[in-house]
Amino acid sequence: MDETNAFDNAIKQLESASKFCTCDRNLVEILKYPQKIIEVTIPLQMDNGKIKVFTGYRVQHNNARGPYKGGVRFHPAVNLEEVKALSLWMSMKCAVVNIPFGGAKGGVIVDPKKLTAHEIEHLTRGYIDKIFEFIGPMKDILAPDVNTNAQTMAWIMDEYSHISREHSPAVVTGKPVDNEGSLGRDTATAMGGKYVLVEYLKTKGLDIQLLSVAIQGFGNAGYNIAKLLHEEGALIVAIADSKGTIYNETGIDPTAAMKFKLKHGSIKNMPESIEIKTEDLFSLNCDILIPAALENAIDHKNAKNIKAKIILELANGPVTPEADLILKDKGVNIIPDILANSGGVTVSYFEWVQNLSRDYWTLEVVDNKLKEIMLKAFNDIHDFANLKKCTLREAAFALAITRICLATKNRGILS
Ligand code: GLU
Repeated sequence: MDETNAFDNAIKQLESASKFCTCDRNLVEILKYPQKIIEVTIPLQMDNGKIKVFTGYRVQHNNARGPYKGGVRFHPAVNLEEVKALSLWMSMKCAVVNIPFGGAKGGVIVDPKKLTAHEIEHLTRGYIDKIFEFIGPMKDILAPDVNTNAQTMAWIMDEYSHISREHSPAVVTGKPVDNEGSLGRDTATAMGGKYVLVEYLKTKGLDIQLLSVAIQGFGNAGYNIAKLLHEEGALIVAIADSKGTIYNETGIDPTAAMKFKLKHGSIKNMPESIEIKTEDLFSLNCDILIPAALENAIDHKNAKNIKAKIILELANGPVTPEADLILKDKGVNIIPDILANSGGVTVSYFEWVQNLSRDYWTLEVVDNKLKEIMLKAFNDIHDFANLKKCTLREAAFALAITRICLATKNRGILS
């Protein structure tokens, strides 16, 4: 059995959690299929005059609870099974935090590190031209994901507004603050992760100031969680980016690491730290492990070497179902992705509300609302897991499935 097919993995998670749901099994069956799969080709004239043709996807998994919602990633390893899985996880995530969205995801097969800014802009616009009729503020709302950022979102807003001849900021979230983006959206994924981690530690009577953390991935989520946990007094002992992994048992300053990365393109060779193999990051003697990169980082091979007792999944799908079972047997507690990283889409929801109401909130308002939603979601899931004697992942999925199935039932299945 291929452990790396992300969609098969998502279905396994759905099935294992549905045992704990009281809703109609027939309705759960619907969730195993995305509602719509869009595949497009995007011809792009490169700066040297040559034409290259790229493939892009938008998968709309479920909209029973509201318009489709989810990010777009630019990565050479993007494939349809992955985008399908990510779209299913988005439906679950929005239901976990109880925001009125369904789930979708987009991806373009491209290594943006090999493209100029001008080429990336035109690729982004080309992608939007191709999926234009399927997206919109009340249909499907895009957002950043791996290798896309606020600038990419500004191009998306501009292209969509240009084609529709209407100013349409609410078609995409994660925009620059100067272009009606929300305050706090850039740090929201990590902030939400911090809130649930701190709450989780409280339930275990653990003091964050005495805990060490290893982080795989040093993009938006990885960097910001490192910074936030460092500020809380945790010891960041290891960080990996796509080019190297650094370790320092006395602690790494995330701000200094980011400065170094911006100057040298990677944290590799950062002074006062030693270089270790990325694989060794997972077997480090630390308390908390945070995968914040791509799917399947923790599989049946490296799961058995994990010594950390807590995993905070900031990436989507970083632990395979096989690894999940091994870790459960070892007594490792996992705070699952659909809860741990849902702060991002929660502040995306706030951004969408602000765009539609034309009324903008302070950072304090955004932060308080985010905290309230994250703590409620955590406590609901934690209580459910205790009651049903299941994992936090099973509890999170079960609550999400129940909410989506209820919405489906009320609307009518054939609608
Ligand atoms: N790409 C992010 C995620 O996987 C954010 C999605 C959004 O804000 O819509 O959760």
